[in-house]
Amino acid sequence: MHPIVARNRSDLTKARTGGTLALVPTMGALHEGHRSLIRLARERADEVVVSVFVNPLQFGPGEDFQRYPRTFDADLAACREEGVDVVFAPAADEMYLPDRQVSVSAGGMGRIVEGASRPGHFDGMLTVVLKLFNLVRPDLAVFGQKDAQQLAMIRRMVADLDVPVEIVGAPTVREPDGLALSSRNRYLSAAERRAALSLSRALRAGEGEPTPARVRAAAAKALAEAPPELEVDYLALVDPATFLEVPDAYEGEAVLAVAARTGATRLIDNAVVRLGR
Ligand code: AMP
Repeated sequence: MHPIVARNRSDLTKARTGGTLALVPTMGALHEGHRSLIRLARERADEVVVSVFVNPLQFGPGEDFQRYPRTFDADLAACREEGVDVVFAPAADEMYLPDRQVSVSAGGMGRIVEGASRPGHFDGMLTVVLKLFNLVRPDLAVFGQKDAQQLAMIRRMVADLDVPVEIVGAPTVREPDGLALSSRNRYLSAAERRAALSLSRALRAGEGEPTPARVRAAAAKALAEAPPELEVDYLALVDPATFLEVPDAYEGEAVLAVAARTGATRLIDNAVVRLGR
């Protein structure tokens, strides 16, 4: 019988069993990365809700909102296999009032690194995440480290706005050759996929190095050796909480983040690196 498909707040209320509730927000086109989040949610709560919503607010003009993969039947089957209780799949006009005014601002942190390349993206993402929290009212929510700045921004929102939801981060799931799983990978041609491998290769090159300068140099060298199909957007070595570039004397954990385009597809990846002793 599971999962129940909920389209609005009233469906969600009816589906509640009263135990602890975990939410896994997604845009659908579910893959093994999403499934790992669902399994973590399953371990941590009595009831698991997966939301499937391609949020128009977090796509900029000229981005891939229209061509983003929509595979609802397969998503439902994946959720059934993973023992999900409720799939929350609202229609866009259910989520956003035509005369809506108020939204979440990601602040300065939303305008750097990934936010510099995608103006407004983090405002739109935080707005939908806060709405999902208010609709589903979960005790905890699981997000992937794959979208490291998204995870950091959500932690920031929860702290700044006193949102009563525990945020759980989950490690990035990769193909055996290192490519991070992404709903957008299905669009890659063979040559583009080979080029895309340079992202994880650059992260691995940077990972073993002891200082920020050496991490940046090793990763940049690997990217410079990438096939011509790869157009690098940014390479950044940042503080995991603030996403500000770390200074040369920095010690501790940092996020090495990379974004690149190959053909019409934009890809991001990151690794946590440990600097200093
Ligand atoms: P998306 O459907 O792309 O918006 O992603 C939904 C959630 O799945 C986000 O929290 C992502 O960070 C997470 N996610 C996406 N790809 C992966 C991956 N390869 N490994 C782990 N989590 C992922």
